[in-house]
Amino acid sequence: MKGKITIDKELCKGCGYCITACPKGLIAFNEEFNSMGYHYAIPVNSDECNGCGLCAVVCPDIAVEVWKAED
Ligand code: SF4
Ligand code: SF4
Repeated sequence: MKGKITIDKELCKGCGYCITACPKGLIAFNEEFNSMGYHYAIPVNSDECNGCGLCAVVCPDIAVEVWKAED
């Protein structure tokens, strides 16, 4: 199973919960700020995402969307 995530940078408040939650370390803070002045989260090394969904579950701002696809 492979997965893919997108993060809505304008919904992100930079709490970092998704970064902590990802067992593969596939999310990081961007150096740039969003319009609210937060460093927002971005996917990194996204080819390794398995679509487990933990990052979306822990996000308090519903900023993360996860898609799953068969290999
Ligand atoms: S779906 Fe799982 S593996 Fe993919 S980025 Fe989120 S927590 Fe990490
Ligand atoms: S958990 Fe949600 S609000 Fe917090 S850093 Fe991740 S995407 Fe942003």
